[in-house]
Amino acid sequence: MGRRPVSRKRSGAPARPLSAGGFGTRVELGEDAYQVRTVTGSGAVKDYRCPGCHQVIAAGTAHVVVWPAADSGGVADRRHWHAGCWRREAGRRG
Ligand SMILES: [Zn+2]
Repeated sequence: MGRRPVSRKRSGAPARPLSAGGFGTRVELGEDAYQVRTVTGSGAVKDYRCPGCHQVIAAGTAHVVVWPAADSGGVADRRHWHAGCWRREAGRRG
């Protein structure tokens, strides 16, 4: 009877680079799945309006882009959020 070696728990998650290409991270909120991508300040070249607080995200401000995961190719539904506003939204819906 072979005993399985006790799987050692890793202390701390492996450090995964945040910049995993241009495709973003899949996030599931309730029944909906989204792709979320972080935009750095230098990558933000335009002003956007945040759907969370309806304030402008000024060019040069790091923020996140969110779009429905089911529509991975479609950029029409992309929304630009303040990172904090998206976190709050995700917390409310997740
Ligand atoms: Zn906002």
